[in-house]
Amino acid sequence: MDIDSLRKDINSIDEQVLRLLAQRRDVARQVIEYKRGHDLPLRDERREEDLLHQIIEKGRALGLDAHLVTRVFHEIIDDSVRAQQFVLQEGVNQDTRSPRVVAYQGIDGAYSHLAARKFMGSAAGSVSYAGYPTFAEVVEAVEEGIADFGLLPVENTTAGNINEVYDLLSRTQLHAVGEEIFRVNHCLLALEDTPLSSLRRILSHPQALAQCTRFLSQLVNCQQEFFTDTAMAVQKVRADGDPTQAAIASEEAGRIHGLRVIQRGLADQPENFTRFVVVARAPIRVDPRVPSKTSTILATSHEPGALNQALDVFYRNQINLTKLDARPKPGSPFEYLFYIDLEGSLEEKRVEAAIKGLQEKTTFLKILGSYPMESRSRTRPSTRSLARRTAGVESSDDPDGADVPEPSAPANGPGSGPDEAPAVTPIVEHFAEIADSADDERLVSRRSRPERTSVRVRDVKIGGPEFITIAGPCSVESEDQIRRCARHVRETGGHILRGGCFRPRISATSFRGLGFDGLELLARAGREYDLPIVTEVLSPDDVGPVADRADMLQVGARNMQNYPLLSRVGKVNRPVLLKRSPMASVEELLDAAECILAEGNHQVILCERGIRTIETATRNTLDLGAIPLLRERTHLPIIVDPSHAAGRRELVIPLALAARAVGPDGMMVEIHPRPEVALSDGPQALRFDDFSSLLERIYP
Ligand code: PEP
Ligand code: MN
Repeated sequence: MDIDSLRKDINSIDEQVLRLLAQRRDVARQVIEYKRGHDLPLRDERREEDLLHQIIEKGRALGLDAHLVTRVFHEIIDDSVRAQQFVLQEGVNQDTRSPRVVAYQGIDGAYSHLAARKFMGSAAGSVSYAGYPTFAEVVEAVEEGIADFGLLPVENTTAGNINEVYDLLSRTQLHAVGEEIFRVNHCLLALEDTPLSSLRRILSHPQALAQCTRFLSQLVNCQQEFFTDTAMAVQKVRADGDPTQAAIASEEAGRIHGLRVIQRGLADQPENFTRFVVVARAPIRVDPRVPSKTSTILATSHEPGALNQALDVFYRNQINLTKLDARPKPGSPFEYLFYIDLEGSLEEKRVEAAIKGLQEKTTFLKILGSYPMESRSRTRPSTRSLARRTAGVESSDDPDGADVPEPSAPANGPGSGPDEAPAVTPIVEHFAEIADSADDERLVSRRSRPERTSVRVRDVKIGGPEFITIAGPCSVESEDQIRRCARHVRETGGHILRGGCFRPRISATSFRGLGFDGLELLARAGREYDLPIVTEVLSPDDVGPVADRADMLQVGARNMQNYPLLSRVGKVNRPVLLKRSPMASVEELLDAAECILAEGNHQVILCERGIRTIETATRNTLDLGAIPLLRERTHLPIIVDPSHAAGRRELVIPLALAARAVGPDGMMVEIHPRPEVALSDGPQALRFDDFSSLLERIYP
């Protein structure tokens, strides 16, 4: 076997993949023709979920990760939905003009150009693209009929609104007919593989440079030069032929204009999206099966309650808003126009009613138009199904050497293999309605908020109907270790990845953690496996920088009464996992939570992790009674940590199962690919297969 013939094989496999994708899209188009004829809905979530589960199982049998299969199929399903929406939309709009011309700002390879191509991806007939130097010229080209569509960026998830476009939209007679959400991936592009230290000039759009400050701060003696779009910067580097110059732009711009990628993923915030609005001279109709949005611009009188009355119209018609923004009214200082996007189309009765109501409550009302919404709702495989189908999922490494005793004792006694694993059902429903007896005026009390609070950690809701699992190593030790843990958490259906980076110095010799380097590894692993991350923050000064990287901040048991720390985490907009001190009463835990809430951060999750008692045979004593007690006292979600309570892995599974029954909102457990060599808390870390079997029982 030589490398050339292997490469030939790869190429031919890739071609087959492409052919199959095209074939699948054709079939999807036929399916929608059928659905249209039989008045069936566009999407069937149940079917999508079943399909995903079957495919995950088949993938595992072939040695493929559930995570990989899920990602690939999300893209494929998205493409099918897009193709089907196009068919439905062409049905109601009968727009058969061809070729169609799409105007955008910039040159070939600019992000707007790539977004325009993505938007037109499923359109039949030929499409041509025309770049213009400014947004105003894009609008003009469409107004004058030189172009059929114009693509305008309205907002970026890192940089915010693009004000110039907002102002153009308020003046133009064009209609909004579509939107495109485009993932921006900034790359460093140069003539050759120049080392970073040799670069002297970085060229790009000012916004792109502003989004990469962390990367740029590593470059010394490097000047920045601004261009009106990123692709022009690429073109300039090429034309100058100077290897000490580099551009920040998309990989595609590099391909089009002949530069090579030196580094990818430069943006400070890896989740970086730009939303574009597509405009045309005539409004479009939206097939009722297609999820849609309507964009409006309005002004209200300058009186108390005027905006409130306008917004109330949406509530009364049960309409969800996706955007609400204020912009200064051009020419009227300190007066504002409100840009409001809502779910639904003008062809729906409730939207029609809302617009009618708005007419009475506004001084200015402009309907930009209704258009298909770019839906980001994707079917997720449930924890239950992943946890039950762990065949083919990685185990922890075998301990080295025969003298290391197998640390994993059967958790439920002999004979309790996964097949006959007893399931736990929480029994808390029986006492969830205990009345709030205390006359408690605190923000944490159920008196101040009778409904239970749920806290969202990215897409994961803690305190909702689903029992949440947080898992990962005690400490982040290496890239390999945290990636393996992340992969295992993902494959078994866990929700959040944990890992300590700043470790409390329990003794002079204990591992102190990898600090911000560890946090970077944790963040990367979380991103790779699409898991939110939680890590402990030790000092008030670290709160800001850690909150920039982590999705949830943990306040450790030893810091439960560290008031400067509590006050600092109370001032950031990040969920806080507050661990109970082994020396604190439930009341003291609630007092500590109160300190965070009082600073303005209401996203607090309490964690019972064992307290100090006369018992010394276990690391701590898990205070199970505290969990229903806390449910009675507070609206805040509660997590149980059996790992730190037990201190020994043999006890973790039975404690977790017992705790599940008394009704916490989730659990946090420590796992490790090789507990024998863990740098901290090895004896209590579950091996991967123990963790898999725990989840099978927790999610019966
Ligand atoms: C931890 O969860 O990493 C930890 C140190 O736990 P605790 O603060 O509960 O001891
Ligand atoms: Mn630990």
